Amino acid sequence: MNQGTPEGDSDLSQRHRRELLRLLLWFTVLFSVGFIAINFSVGKYGLMAIEIAVAVFAVWLLTILPRTPNLRRWALVYMVTLLSGTMFAFASPATSITVFSWILVMPVLTHLLLGRWLGGVLSLFYLVLSASIFCWRFGTTQLMDTPGSIANIVTVTACAYLFSHVYEASRERAEQQLSVMALTDSLTGLANRTQLEQSFSRAVLQRQLPLSLVMIDLDYFKRINDEHGHATGDAVLRIIAQAMREHIRESDLACRLGGEEFCLLLPSTNPQRARRLADRLREDIETLECRHEDAVLKLTASIGVATASNPTDGLDPMLHVADQNLYRAKFAGRNCVVG
Ligand code: GH3
Ligand code: MG
Ligand code: MG
Repeated sequence: MNQGTPEGDSDLSQRHRRELLRLLLWFTVLFSVGFIAINFSVGKYGLMAIEIAVAVFAVWLLTILPRTPNLRRWALVYMVTLLSGTMFAFASPATSITVFSWILVMPVLTHLLLGRWLGGVLSLFYLVLSASIFCWRFGTTQLMDTPGSIANIVTVTACAYLFSHVYEASRERAEQQLSVMALTDSLTGLANRTQLEQSFSRAVLQRQLPLSLVMIDLDYFKRINDEHGHATGDAVLRIIAQAMREHIRESDLACRLGGEEFCLLLPSTNPQRARRLADRLREDIETLECRHEDAVLKLTASIGVATASNPTDGLDPMLHVADQNLYRAKFAGRNCVVG
């Protein structure tokens, strides 16, 4: 299941971008206050009014920043405001040619704040606009007179764009791998308990009720380790995990709680259906021949089922009921389903 925020970014990305936007907003406020003072002293009240508006906007954004669910939208509004202001400065006859050095930070900021696609497209648009403003202000003769300097600026800007793009793509990939690792059991590749908790909360929030839990514990598993070694035990756990994957729907979740204990989360599943699925899985495990190196092993599982039509108290009470039923299944002689 997707672990993203409503805007599609992961929680980690959102945190990273929220911090960056906070820093940029503080810079904006500080720069604006400085420019307000300068423009007041030279009597440029029109510019001063624009800078006051920018500062007020930045302060307001700082206040909503910690809790807004629309971070990407506000980051886009901020970037468009900032870049449009920069274009205004580029086009202003009062600014010197050195103001164009600001184009170097444009691709970096847009990529870091908006990601590689939106950031890439936005910075490309403003880079083309900057080049057009430059030609309009200084004419093509300037380009002809100083081809070396122009080639330098173009090359450095292209490098800044490319490095930002590659960096952001690699950061997004690394982050994706990290979130998969944080939510997955490394031995079997099934979900871990953290992912179970997240999927449970999501199912309750989306009212996918009744919600069923199937808790599975392999019988006498310790003997397998004792008689065939830990590596064989691990191989058996992987085979059982695969059997579980084959029994569930796209909307279900198979999870390894730890050791030789597993759990299936079944949204929109009534008790009868959950029991039927549990019994089919139990039969499958019983008939399964687990092969590892020269060993061919047979084993069974005991299963406890719990269903809740409105599990408002969270996952733990349901796990507790499933665990009690599992204990009863063990007590009843193992290789059976209770619940
Ligand atoms: P029961 O039928 O009562 O459940 O008996 P059991 O032997 O399955 O249960 P017990 O809790 O006594 O033993 C569980 C064993 O699972 C103990 C431990 O050696 C083994 N185990 C736990 N985690 C792993 C693992 O990651 N890999 C392997 N190979 N074995 C594990
Ligand atoms: Mg066991
Ligand atoms: Mg156990």
